[in-house]
Amino acid sequence: EAKGASLGDPHYFDYYLMDKLLERVQIEKKLPRALAVGEFELFYQPKVDLATRTLTGLEALIRWNDPAQGLVSPASFIPIAEESGFIVELGEWVLWEACRTNKRWQDAGYPKLPVSVNVSAVQFRHPQFVRTVEAVLEQTGLEPRYLELEVTESLLNDPVLIKDRLDSLEQRGISLSVDDFGTGYSSIYYLKELPLQVLKIDRTFVRNTPASPRDNSLLLSIIQLGKSLGLTVLAEGVETKEQFDFLRQHDCDQIQGFYYSRPVDSETMEEMLRISRI
Ligand code: C2E
Ligand code: MG
Ligand code: MG
Ligand code: MG
Repeated sequence: EAKGASLGDPHYFDYYLMDKLLERVQIEKKLPRALAVGEFELFYQPKVDLATRTLTGLEALIRWNDPAQGLVSPASFIPIAEESGFIVELGEWVLWEACRTNKRWQDAGYPKLPVSVNVSAVQFRHPQFVRTVEAVLEQTGLEPRYLELEVTESLLNDPVLIKDRLDSLEQRGISLSVDDFGTGYSSIYYLKELPLQVLKIDRTFVRNTPASPRDNSLLLSIIQLGKSLGLTVLAEGVETKEQFDFLRQHDCDQIQGFYYSRPVDSETMEEMLRISRI
């Protein structure tokens, strides 16, 4: 950077932004090859029923084993894959891998649980999406009721396309969850009208509970809203025993979070399933 350079100066050059841009371009270029050579992997995080304290499902969360950087978090490549459109292909791989693995665990005699797959808006809007889901279920042999799709709230505001698509998925027996609830925009009307089963409360609403009375009452209102809509309510990001107890005492149905388990690789998940059967 030139001495004394500033934003208004024609010689000013923002190296930080340039770096970020280059990083994006490099990641975008690396993704297809990473998929072809098998650098992606699914981790699984348990969902726990608060009343019975038993496993009720597993969420598949993608990881990238980049040989140069190690385990890369989805936050740093999913948005790039969404922008470039590669998410359609990557998301299809996630569906295959999650359904195949779940079926394998079921065949091995572990408790039968639904696996949840996160679906990006771009992927959900793709004209072939429902057909892809059907093909994956058919070819892996996983029963539709053991697949759940997690979509984000903002997607629900595209009612015409979304209603059709959600209806046909629901008719096939696939469960639909609203992820990160409270951070996007969705009208209560759509929440009522669309065929949804689970409301996942974003972890920002759990973070300050039970220390903050204001956050506690907000959290309770969201739980009540979900219940009034006839949905199963799950709280994300539960990290402490106090949060777990608070949610259990206030009618929340399920939780996910580090308190019970971090997302784990498939070998560890299999071990957890094996133990849960005993
Ligand atoms: P998400 O679907 O809301 O997943 C929950 C995220 O919260 C996960 O981050 C999980 O590791 C993290 N988490 C779980 N429990 C706790 C907790 O107690 N405390 C804290 N601080 N965090 C917790 P992860 O795995 O890094 O995934 C981030 C996001 O990336 C996901 O948010 C999801 O939106 C997206 N994502 C992950 N896998 C996929 C995928 O296969 N396809 C698509 N389209 N998106 C994915
Ligand atoms: Mg999710
Ligand atoms: Mg979430
Ligand atoms: Mg989240």
